Amino acid sequence: MTMGRAEELAAALDALRGRLALACASAGRSPEEVTLLPVTKYFPASDVTILYQLGCREFGESREQEASAKIAELRSVTGQLPDVRWHMIGRLQRNKARAVARWVHTVQSVDSVRLAQALDRAAAAAMAAGERVAPPRVLLQVSLDGDAARGGVDPAGLGELADTVAGANSLTLAGVMAVAPLGVEPARGFAELARLHEKLLRVHPGATERSAGMSGDLEAAVNHGSTCVRVGTALMGSRPILSP
Ligand SMILES: *Cc1c(COP(=O)(O)O)cnc(C)c1O
Repeated sequence: MTMGRAEELAAALDALRGRLALACASAGRSPEEVTLLPVTKYFPASDVTILYQLGCREFGESREQEASAKIAELRSVTGQLPDVRWHMIGRLQRNKARAVARWVHTVQSVDSVRLAQALDRAAAAAMAAGERVAPPRVLLQVSLDGDAARGGVDPAGLGELADTVAGANSLTLAGVMAVAPLGVEPARGFAELARLHEKLLRVHPGATERSAGMSGDLEAAVNHGSTCVRVGTALMGSRPILSP
């Protein structure tokens, strides 16, 4: 007998919660300190509904158009899942800032002053239009490998970017985000992120979020103080064959 999608996701979510609990235990941390962010990119709105029924309230998406379409579909099918918080975790172009500002709770991938300024203006416009109530929370994506193509601000520019976001009228600086560098032990990258974050916290003590860790490296990230693990594959399965 084949499992339905709901059973499949329930089993994967259980396993993932167990894995996260174990990672927290071995790091001497409480599981309440770490948010599990299901990454639903490439997966249908129906999966979001299932995960919602299983207790998930935050979801990560990486492309504006896909996210907007999914959210619109959820709205028409379910009359909107009331308390969902959407995170933008992918590279964001400035010309998509206005669209993202309509649906986003947290933008995890702000990596330049110009993007921060565009997002600030977009959020102000969205609030003026009654499309959102509160400013978006912003995480600063830090590059740990100097590879501009993978996104993230160079550590040398982190302070200026943080000051820009903290000074913006319509943004809330919430913390930092990073993807482990390629070709090195993830733990080394996460240790570096922790160091940069501690330094930032001395100037911006409210920016306490540290989003780090994905399907393959969440244990190392939790061990280095992650407060949010972004998990796609280990929860959703491999990308559907017909994905873009
Ligand atoms: C897709 C994505 C993830 C999830 O990655 P998995 O390895 O599938 O868990 C996490 N973070 C970012 C920025 C992503 O784009």
